[in-house]
Amino acid sequence: MAEFHFLNKTQPPQVTSLNLPPNHSCTLVAKRKIEVIPNDLPILQPDALLVKVISTDKLFIHGYIPWFIILSLYLHNYLAGGVGGRPVKYPIVMGHESSGEVIAVGDLVKSHKIGDRVAIEPGLPCRRCINCKEGRVNICLDMRYCGAPGSVGSISRFFALPADMAPHIPDHVSWDEAGCIQPLAVGVQIGKRVALEPHKTVAIFGCGPIGLISAAVAHAYSAKKIIAFDNNPVRVEFAKNYKSPLTGKPIIDHAFLIKDLPTESLKNNELNNGLGEDPSRSKVGLGDGEIDDFHHEDESIGDRKWEQAQKIAAGFIEQAGLTNEEGVDRVIEATGAEDCMLLGIAIAKQGGNYLAVGLGHIQTNTFPTLAVTNKEINVMGITRYTASCFPSAIDMLDRGVVDLRQLITKSFPITQSMDAFEAVAAGGDMKVIIKNQEGFDN
Ligand SMILES: [Zn+2]
Repeated sequence: MAEFHFLNKTQPPQVTSLNLPPNHSCTLVAKRKIEVIPNDLPILQPDALLVKVISTDKLFIHGYIPWFIILSLYLHNYLAGGVGGRPVKYPIVMGHESSGEVIAVGDLVKSHKIGDRVAIEPGLPCRRCINCKEGRVNICLDMRYCGAPGSVGSISRFFALPADMAPHIPDHVSWDEAGCIQPLAVGVQIGKRVALEPHKTVAIFGCGPIGLISAAVAHAYSAKKIIAFDNNPVRVEFAKNYKSPLTGKPIIDHAFLIKDLPTESLKNNELNNGLGEDPSRSKVGLGDGEIDDFHHEDESIGDRKWEQAQKIAAGFIEQAGLTNEEGVDRVIEATGAEDCMLLGIAIAKQGGNYLAVGLGHIQTNTFPTLAVTNKEINVMGITRYTASCFPSAIDMLDRGVVDLRQLITKSFPITQSMDAFEAVAAGGDMKVIIKNQEGFDN
């Protein structure tokens, strides 16, 4: 162990002898401004690998629609200058979803050799904090995460990382798919958190990449039925055509186009639709402390949207053939949009699981707490992925039970990184890949 207290301060000979070109890196220099400029080549440590990065997935987002968006951390950094109240400190090298080829090996490494194909696990936990000590390394209090403030991202030509953070990739997995292993690992963690199991029904809000990857994982876990929702008709159509590599048939049984929830009261509509005045709905006669259930002027907009969500969800449940089951077992909310949260709780069956995945634009939302209590819903959140998720994701690609190639719609050389980010922000593509070695003469 003592070796780790004496880190290399100069580049070891196995790196200097390579005579590598400058380490051009996708660098965020200001809000929505990227330059591909040389960054320092990291010094190879005794327990680490130097990787020639081949491909990087360009985040999980689709669309730039204000209320209905899945944003990855670094797209937040790109578009908004930060995420979750943590502003970016410029410049910052971006990226956390990469794969590549090992070109140098630290003196203590026995697990890897030059030429190995590896994925880059982007989160390096501290191993010391209380969460790490309890085995929950994904919520480490001192996490170093590629592309997050304080850490170097992986959209560069070369990247160094501890060997144990670089799982091997089978030869037959393409570089493009290999670049998507990190989001698939997040999909595996989503499955673990929401407790995907055979014969369970699953509802997914958001048909962007992480929604579709979640659907693919649910399918690989033998879900009984998968339904999905989005407010973007292009994404709904894409979802309908996302096919299983196992059956050749669509993974998603029903993909629904949804709209903003109406905000008018259903009860008032009933009154206005000829049901007449009900004397019991008068406030007259109420004693102290009595609740006037029918005084709708006191309803909040959240209450009204909740009424609408219940009605609309009932329609979806019927269309999906789930009326007898009275909802779905597992809800994956991958948008961060309030309306989808309301629909998600409304569509969950009694005792179901609800997982909050989407980040959204704001930090607080209206949430139907009474229904959560009455239906005894298990509400959970998720951050990143846990220890077994990368190996599980690689297994899924190795065995061919998940196909990410259908999701990759465009690729750019690293020299056009800003075009890649803008393409993602424009929402016309599902997954965009950056080729980290392309665009240079050497
Ligand atoms: Zn920690």
